[in-house]
Amino acid sequence: MVSQRIAVYPGTFDPITKGHRDIIQRAALLFDKIIIAIAVNVGKNPIFSLQERFQCVQHEVEALSVEKNLQNIEVQTFDTLLVNFAKQVGARILIRGLRAVSDFEYELQLVGMNTSLSPELETVFLMASERYQFISSSMIKEVAQLGGDVTPFVSPFVAQKFLEKTNNN
Ligand code: ADP
Repeated sequence: MVSQRIAVYPGTFDPITKGHRDIIQRAALLFDKIIIAIAVNVGKNPIFSLQERFQCVQHEVEALSVEKNLQNIEVQTFDTLLVNFAKQVGARILIRGLRAVSDFEYELQLVGMNTSLSPELETVFLMASERYQFISSSMIKEVAQLGGDVTPFVSPFVAQKFLEKTNNN
């Protein structure tokens, strides 16, 4: 039996953006199964709860299934060491997105650390389409908090979640 190529795409996804979605779509065409792994990551002080982040990612996954006929994507959350999570789900591939040169240094350190912890794990870097490369969750959160329009950067579902958040504050 040929083993499945399972890839984990980890992140905080606070919230999922069109940049993340682009990377997920590319990865789903390359590998047999993609597991989007949402980090609980309290250290990063997410503005969306784990449940909200999960709901938003799940919504994008359903859209990719309907609109792009991609049915090999699932969503999970994790609160352990990433390499242990990958092992647990049988993945030997990690997906990371690269935007500008500024991402490179952090990602290089991350690969170094993950490879020392788990040498059989391979990290694959993907780049989003040019029009999404400048998008980052942190910048979008700033735009939203200052009353700007986030619809160019996130799905209507996520934009609505932002509205609910700002209306409740
Ligand atoms: P983290 O908490 O690790 O920074 P993020 O949720 O911000 O996680 O992002 C997860 C991954 O997606 C990272 O590899 C990040 O570089 C990548 N990513 C985020 N936005 C984009 C984008 N616009 N284009 C390409 N990759 C992206």
